[in-house]
Amino acid sequence: MLAWLIGGALACAAAWQFSVDRTSAALRARAERHAAALALDLTGALEKVETLPFVISLQAQVLQGLQHPGDARAIESLNHYLAEVQQRAQVAAAYVIDQQGLTIAASNWLDVQTFVGNNYGFRPYARAALSGDVGRFYAIGTTTSLPGYFLAHPVADPAHPPTSSGPPLGAVVLKISLDAFERSWAGNDEPVALVDRNGVLFLASQADWKYRSLARLNDAARREIAASQQYTGRSIEPLPGAAAALPRVVKPVGPLGWQLMLFVDLAPAHQAARGMAVGTALLVLAAALGAHAWSQRRTHQRSLDAARAALQDASTQLEHRIAERTAELLRANHDLAERYRELQQAEQLLRATQDELVQAGKLGMLGQMAAGMTHELNQPLTAAKAFADNAVAFLAQGDEASARENLQHISDACSRMGQLIAQLKGFARKSDGEVGPVDLAASIRNAALLLEADYRQRGAALSITALPSARVMGDSLRIEQVLVNLLKNALDAVAGTDERRVHLVLARDGGDAVITITDSGPGLAREARARLFEPFFTTKPSGQGLGLGLAISSSIVQAMGGRLAALDAPGDSGAQFELRLPLLDPPAAPPASIPALHDGVEPR
Ligand code: ADP
Repeated sequence: MLAWLIGGALACAAAWQFSVDRTSAALRARAERHAAALALDLTGALEKVETLPFVISLQAQVLQGLQHPGDARAIESLNHYLAEVQQRAQVAAAYVIDQQGLTIAASNWLDVQTFVGNNYGFRPYARAALSGDVGRFYAIGTTTSLPGYFLAHPVADPAHPPTSSGPPLGAVVLKISLDAFERSWAGNDEPVALVDRNGVLFLASQADWKYRSLARLNDAARREIAASQQYTGRSIEPLPGAAAALPRVVKPVGPLGWQLMLFVDLAPAHQAARGMAVGTALLVLAAALGAHAWSQRRTHQRSLDAARAALQDASTQLEHRIAERTAELLRANHDLAERYRELQQAEQLLRATQDELVQAGKLGMLGQMAAGMTHELNQPLTAAKAFADNAVAFLAQGDEASARENLQHISDACSRMGQLIAQLKGFARKSDGEVGPVDLAASIRNAALLLEADYRQRGAALSITALPSARVMGDSLRIEQVLVNLLKNALDAVAGTDERRVHLVLARDGGDAVITITDSGPGLAREARARLFEPFFTTKPSGQGLGLGLAISSSIVQAMGGRLAALDAPGDSGAQFELRLPLLDPPAAPPASIPALHDGVEPR
């Protein structure tokens, strides 16, 4: 900013100086030309009349007049001649003076203010001419008060030979007015003045400059002016300082050492210079603003570039990171796939193991039930044999009705055995996993039927409260397997006690079918409760239990989306197991009780 300010100020100053110099030079050159032309005009006018007095002095009338000043006719003739000369030569006046400076004839002889009779011997021009030289002088007329240029030429005395230097008879004088020049200057813009040897402005375009001096006159000059009455009636004061100090061009004019001065007004030069300086200042300002705008633009561009580069960096980093993450994800995905495969293998192994366990559990249970079943089958077989023997006997007796009755008993016993065997076959068969709607009440009946003989044999009572309809989705054989398992455990538990009662309830609880089996046995030992569902956990003597029943049951129930849990039976003793399976047709209905079938087992 400071540099711009200093630079701008210097440029303005230089422009100002340059303009002043150039315009001043132009103004001066113009003034020179103008002044030269004006000086030439004046000089020309003076030269035009320079020889005229000499020519006049050669005229006979002039000599006549001077030789015979008392001759009125001669004087009159001279007056007429002079008047004619004045007219023709367009001068202010023409007159003749005698040896003493007295005017003997004049062109204005008829005027009131005629020169005739006036003595001008005190005037320098008269003195010069009367001593044989050409007299030249500029002065205000003492008679007319009109200024003019006086040009005098001696009139030689014919009595003297032309080579001798005797005093002249008189002199011819012409007064030439320079007013016309002065008037022509009045229209000039720049002041013009004609200055005499003493520095007095005797012609001037400015009226108030006239008869003033460039500098204060010295005493000698004052005395000279006073003696010659050059500027009669005027006191010569110096010009005002401002005017005197104005620059000017000067041209010499005429033989008297006059100077034509043209004063140059440099105000226009200064005005132009001011304009130039202001223009330069505006240019500098514009340049500064331009430079500022450019630098702003460049800064902006730079920050834009930086932002773009940063963005590019960030984008590159992001790409790197994305690539890294993608690689990590791919690795993780690969690991997961690996784990999943391992998991699948484990699951397959588990399923295989589970199937084997189920099968093993069933076999174990079959082993246990084998004895009971043998007894169960034995009983109807023995009965059938007895009924057959009876029928033979009755037939032999011809008692056909009794024989038929016994045969009917045999048939009943056979179908009972058939039923038992069918159930046993279904149970022993490895489930083929057929899944479909299962009526729980039917499953309960089947399970009860399977265990009926066992219960009866051990003097235990199984009571059942079941809803007419509670259907679930699952494998009916497996459900029956679970129920048989639970009922068998309950029977084992009550077998050693006095009461020996087992109660099964089927109910609906919200969206679940709930089967609760409560027994009057000793309940679950604390150790047994924690490990019930562990495979091969059993408290039964060897050969009686494998410890697989609950473990398998639980996994079957879970596979069907249900749950198997051991509860504490209400009251002081006994165990309670709860089996929950999701209902196929969930609309809830209040549980209805159906009466216990019988004290023993009589499912039908
Ligand atoms: P197992 O019957 O072959 O012993 P389970 O898995 O069916 O195998 O049963 C495990 C154990 O749980 C039994 O040995 C027994 O101690 C206990 N248990 C099961 N049901 C009952 C019950 N109703 N009352 C008391 N204990 C029971």
